[in-house]
Amino acid sequence: MQSGYFLIADISGYTEFVQLHTLKQKPLFGKFMAKNFENHASIIISDLLESVIEAIEPSMKLHKLEGDAAFFYIEENSELDQADKIISAMGKANEAFTNKASDLLFVQACGCEPCSQSKNLKLKIVVHKGTCVTQKIRNFEEISGEDVILTHRLLKNNIASNEYWLVTKEFAKNLSKDNQKKFMPSSQKIENFGKIGLLICEFDSGEPVNSDVSKRSRAINWIIQASYFTKHTLKRPSRKIRIGDSNV
Ligand SMILES: [Zn+2]
Repeated sequence: MQSGYFLIADISGYTEFVQLHTLKQKPLFGKFMAKNFENHASIIISDLLESVIEAIEPSMKLHKLEGDAAFFYIEENSELDQADKIISAMGKANEAFTNKASDLLFVQACGCEPCSQSKNLKLKIVVHKGTCVTQKIRNFEEISGEDVILTHRLLKNNIASNEYWLVTKEFAKNLSKDNQKKFMPSSQKIENFGKIGLLICEFDSGEPVNSDVSKRSRAINWIIQASYFTKHTLKRPSRKIRIGDSNV
Protein backbone atom coordinates (compact mmCIF):
# COMPACT_ATOMS: atom_id res chain seq x y z
CA MET A 1 0.00 0.00 0.00
CA GLN A 2 1.35 3.41 -0.90
CA SER A 3 -0.02 6.90 -0.42
CA GLY A 4 -0.22 9.39 -3.26
CA TYR A 5 -2.10 11.85 -5.40
CA PHE A 6 -4.42 10.92 -8.28
CA LEU A 7 -5.42 13.34 -11.02
CA ILE A 8 -7.51 12.98 -14.15
CA ALA A 9 -7.55 15.65 -16.86
CA ASP A 10 -10.59 15.09 -19.06
CA ILE A 11 -11.59 16.80 -22.27
CA SER A 12 -15.29 17.01 -22.90
CA GLY A 13 -17.78 18.45 -25.30
CA TYR A 14 -16.65 15.60 -27.54
CA THR A 15 -19.45 13.10 -27.00
CA GLU A 16 -22.03 15.49 -28.46
CA PHE A 17 -19.76 16.01 -31.45
CA VAL A 18 -21.09 13.63 -34.03
CA GLN A 19 -23.05 10.48 -33.75
CA LEU A 20 -20.45 8.25 -35.28
CA HIS A 21 -22.41 5.05 -34.78
CA THR A 22 -25.39 6.45 -36.74
CA LEU A 23 -23.13 7.64 -39.53
CA LYS A 24 -21.39 4.28 -39.81
CA GLN A 25 -24.68 2.55 -40.57
CA LYS A 26 -25.01 4.44 -43.85
CA PRO A 27 -23.48 2.50 -46.75
CA LEU A 28 -19.99 3.37 -48.01
CA PHE A 29 -20.24 7.12 -47.85
CA GLY A 30 -21.30 7.02 -44.23
CA LYS A 31 -18.42 4.75 -43.31
CA PHE A 32 -15.91 6.99 -45.07
CA MET A 33 -17.33 10.11 -43.47
CA ALA A 34 -17.37 8.51 -40.04
CA LYS A 35 -13.73 7.51 -40.38
CA ASN A 36 -12.74 11.00 -41.43
CA PHE A 37 -14.78 12.57 -38.63
CA GLU A 38 -13.32 10.20 -36.09
CA ASN A 39 -9.86 10.95 -37.37
CA HIS A 40 -10.25 14.74 -37.08
CA ALA A 41 -11.86 14.37 -33.67
CA SER A 42 -9.11 12.14 -32.31
CA ILE A 43 -6.31 14.31 -33.71
CA ILE A 44 -7.78 17.44 -32.11
CA ILE A 45 -8.34 15.68 -28.78
CA SER A 46 -4.87 14.15 -28.63
CA ASP A 47 -3.25 17.47 -29.54
CA LEU A 48 -5.16 19.26 -26.77
CA LEU A 49 -4.45 16.45 -24.33
CA GLU A 50 -0.75 16.53 -25.19
CA SER A 51 -0.55 20.21 -24.20
CA VAL A 52 -2.21 19.36 -20.87
CA ILE A 53 0.15 16.43 -20.28
CA GLU A 54 3.18 18.66 -20.90
CA ALA A 55 1.91 21.08 -18.27
CA ILE A 56 1.22 18.44 -15.61
CA GLU A 57 4.09 16.02 -16.19
CA PRO A 58 6.74 17.98 -14.31
CA SER A 59 4.67 17.52 -11.14
CA MET A 60 3.02 14.15 -11.71
CA LYS A 61 3.61 11.00 -13.71
CA LEU A 62 1.33 10.19 -16.63
CA HIS A 63 0.01 6.79 -15.67
CA LYS A 64 -2.45 6.02 -18.46
CA LEU A 65 -4.26 7.54 -21.40
CA GLU A 66 -7.96 6.79 -21.15
CA GLY A 67 -9.68 7.93 -24.34
CA ASP A 68 -10.28 11.68 -23.96
CA ALA A 69 -8.62 11.73 -20.57
CA ALA A 70 -5.17 11.39 -19.02
CA PHE A 71 -4.67 9.79 -15.61
CA PHE A 72 -1.74 10.95 -13.50
CA TYR A 73 -0.26 9.68 -10.28
CA ILE A 74 2.48 10.73 -7.91
CA GLU A 75 3.56 9.10 -4.68
CA GLU A 76 3.39 11.27 -1.60
CA ASN A 77 6.77 12.70 -0.63
CA SER A 78 8.04 14.68 2.33
CA GLU A 79 7.58 18.10 0.68
CA LEU A 80 4.97 20.15 2.49
CA ASP A 81 3.82 21.93 -0.65
CA GLN A 82 3.30 18.87 -2.85
CA ALA A 83 -0.45 19.51 -3.19
CA ASP A 84 0.12 23.21 -3.91
CA LYS A 85 2.54 22.27 -6.66
CA ILE A 86 -0.20 20.12 -8.20
CA ILE A 87 -2.56 23.12 -8.11
CA SER A 88 -0.01 25.27 -9.92
CA ALA A 89 0.44 22.52 -12.53
CA MET A 90 -3.35 22.52 -12.95
CA GLY A 91 -3.23 26.28 -13.53
CA LYS A 92 -0.60 25.71 -16.21
CA ALA A 93 -2.73 22.95 -17.74
CA ASN A 94 -5.73 25.29 -18.03
CA GLU A 95 -3.54 27.91 -19.67
CA ALA A 96 -1.95 25.39 -22.06
CA PHE A 97 -5.36 24.04 -23.01
CA THR A 98 -6.77 27.52 -23.74
CA ASN A 99 -3.71 28.43 -25.80
CA LYS A 100 -3.84 25.20 -27.77
CA ALA A 101 -7.58 25.58 -28.38
CA SER A 102 -7.00 29.03 -29.86
CA ASP A 103 -3.98 27.81 -31.90
CA LEU A 104 -6.23 25.15 -33.38
CA LEU A 105 -9.00 27.54 -34.44
CA PHE A 106 -7.93 27.15 -38.08
CA VAL A 107 -9.65 23.72 -38.08
CA GLN A 108 -12.94 25.64 -38.24
CA ALA A 109 -12.18 26.03 -41.95
CA CYS A 110 -12.49 22.25 -42.44
CA GLY A 111 -16.24 22.34 -42.04
CA CYS A 112 -16.68 18.80 -40.70
CA GLU A 113 -18.70 18.36 -37.53
CA PRO A 114 -15.85 17.54 -35.10
CA CYS A 115 -13.82 20.49 -36.38
CA SER A 116 -16.77 22.88 -36.16
CA GLN A 117 -17.59 21.71 -32.65
CA SER A 118 -14.00 21.71 -31.40
CA LYS A 119 -14.37 25.28 -30.16
CA ASN A 120 -16.73 23.93 -27.48
CA LEU A 121 -14.17 21.51 -26.05
CA LYS A 122 -13.29 22.19 -22.42
CA LEU A 123 -10.98 20.82 -19.77
CA LYS A 124 -12.02 19.43 -16.41
CA ILE A 125 -9.67 18.14 -13.75
CA VAL A 126 -10.44 15.92 -10.76
CA VAL A 127 -7.98 15.26 -7.94
CA HIS A 128 -7.94 12.97 -4.94
CA LYS A 129 -5.40 11.83 -2.39
CA GLY A 130 -5.44 8.31 -1.08
CA THR A 131 -3.79 4.93 -1.17
CA CYS A 132 -3.24 2.35 -3.89
CA VAL A 133 -1.36 -0.81 -4.72
CA THR A 134 0.99 -1.26 -7.65
CA GLN A 135 0.79 -4.34 -9.83
CA LYS A 136 3.40 -5.12 -12.38
CA ILE A 137 2.17 -6.74 -15.58
CA ARG A 138 5.04 -7.33 -17.98
CA ASN A 139 6.55 -3.87 -18.50
CA PHE A 140 3.52 -2.02 -17.28
CA GLU A 141 2.92 -0.85 -13.80
CA GLU A 142 -0.70 -0.46 -12.92
CA ILE A 143 -2.05 1.14 -9.80
CA SER A 144 -5.35 0.06 -8.37
CA GLY A 145 -7.55 0.33 -5.32
CA GLU A 146 -10.65 2.04 -4.04
CA ASP A 147 -9.14 5.51 -4.23
CA VAL A 148 -8.21 5.00 -7.88
CA ILE A 149 -11.83 3.99 -8.56
CA LEU A 150 -13.17 6.97 -6.62
CA THR A 151 -10.98 9.37 -8.64
CA HIS A 152 -12.49 8.03 -11.88
CA ARG A 153 -16.03 8.14 -10.50
CA LEU A 154 -15.61 11.82 -9.62
CA LEU A 155 -16.12 12.54 -13.31
CA LYS A 156 -19.59 11.00 -13.13
CA ASN A 157 -21.27 13.83 -11.29
CA ASN A 158 -24.21 16.23 -11.65
CA ILE A 159 -22.16 19.31 -12.43
CA ALA A 160 -23.59 21.08 -15.48
CA SER A 161 -20.36 22.82 -16.47
CA ASN A 162 -17.61 21.27 -18.60
CA GLU A 163 -14.89 23.42 -17.18
CA TYR A 164 -13.87 22.99 -13.56
CA TRP A 165 -11.56 21.51 -10.97
CA LEU A 166 -13.23 19.07 -8.61
CA VAL A 167 -11.20 17.83 -5.65
CA THR A 168 -11.78 15.72 -2.56
CA LYS A 169 -11.33 16.96 1.01
CA GLU A 170 -8.43 14.50 1.40
CA PHE A 171 -6.61 16.46 -1.30
CA ALA A 172 -7.76 19.93 -0.26
CA LYS A 173 -6.65 19.62 3.36
CA ASN A 174 -3.04 19.49 2.14
CA LEU A 175 -3.36 22.84 0.35
CA SER A 176 -2.30 26.24 1.58
CA LYS A 177 -5.07 28.52 2.86
CA ASP A 178 -4.81 30.64 -0.30
CA ASN A 179 -5.34 27.65 -2.55
CA GLN A 180 -8.17 26.34 -0.40
CA LYS A 181 -9.96 29.67 -0.90
CA LYS A 182 -10.20 28.98 -4.64
CA PHE A 183 -12.76 26.24 -4.00
CA MET A 184 -16.43 26.15 -3.06
CA PRO A 185 -18.12 23.21 -1.34
CA SER A 186 -20.01 20.85 -3.66
CA SER A 187 -21.84 17.77 -2.46
CA GLN A 188 -22.06 14.98 -5.05
CA LYS A 189 -23.61 11.55 -5.09
CA ILE A 190 -20.95 9.21 -6.40
CA GLU A 191 -21.83 5.70 -7.55
CA ASN A 192 -20.98 3.15 -4.84
CA PHE A 193 -19.46 5.82 -2.63
CA GLY A 194 -22.67 7.63 -1.69
CA LYS A 195 -22.96 11.32 -1.02
CA ILE A 196 -19.56 12.91 -0.47
CA GLY A 197 -18.46 16.43 0.27
CA LEU A 198 -16.20 17.75 -2.50
CA LEU A 199 -14.71 21.08 -3.45
CA ILE A 200 -15.15 22.78 -6.78
CA CYS A 201 -13.57 25.64 -8.67
CA GLU A 202 -15.47 26.55 -11.83
CA PHE A 203 -14.14 28.37 -14.87
CA ASP A 204 -15.77 30.12 -17.77
CA SER A 205 -13.20 30.74 -20.48
CA GLY A 206 -15.75 31.16 -23.28
CA GLU A 207 -14.99 30.38 -26.91
CA PRO A 208 -11.33 30.48 -27.96
CA VAL A 209 -10.18 33.51 -29.94
CA ASN A 210 -7.33 33.84 -32.40
CA SER A 211 -6.94 37.07 -34.36
CA ASP A 212 -4.36 35.52 -36.73
CA VAL A 213 -6.86 32.89 -37.79
CA SER A 214 -9.74 35.35 -38.16
CA LYS A 215 -7.58 37.75 -40.21
CA ARG A 216 -6.70 35.06 -42.73
CA SER A 217 -9.01 34.11 -45.57
CA ARG A 218 -10.98 30.90 -45.25
CA ALA A 219 -9.05 29.46 -48.21
CA ILE A 220 -5.72 29.92 -46.43
CA ASN A 221 -7.11 28.48 -43.20
CA TRP A 222 -8.47 25.57 -45.23
CA ILE A 223 -4.98 24.82 -46.58
CA ILE A 224 -3.50 25.08 -43.07
CA GLN A 225 -6.02 22.65 -41.60
CA ALA A 226 -5.56 20.20 -44.51
CA SER A 227 -1.79 20.06 -43.98
CA TYR A 228 -2.23 19.87 -40.20
CA PHE A 229 -4.48 16.81 -40.47
CA THR A 230 -2.26 15.17 -43.10
CA LYS A 231 0.80 15.63 -40.90
CA HIS A 232 -0.95 14.25 -37.82
CA THR A 233 -2.46 11.33 -39.71
CA LEU A 234 0.99 10.27 -40.90
CA LYS A 235 2.56 10.79 -37.53
CA ARG A 236 1.42 8.06 -35.18
CA PRO A 237 1.45 8.69 -31.43
CA SER A 238 4.95 8.47 -30.06
CA ARG A 239 4.05 7.83 -26.45
CA LYS A 240 4.96 4.39 -25.24
CA ILE A 241 1.94 4.07 -23.09
CA ARG A 242 -1.04 1.83 -23.12
CA ILE A 243 -4.10 3.41 -24.64
CA GLY A 244 -7.35 1.97 -23.47
CA ASP A 245 -10.60 2.64 -21.75
CA SER A 246 -10.64 2.68 -18.05
CA ASN A 247 -12.43 -0.31 -16.61
CA VAL A 248 -13.44 1.35 -13.39
ZN1 LIG B 1 -12.55 18.26 -39.88
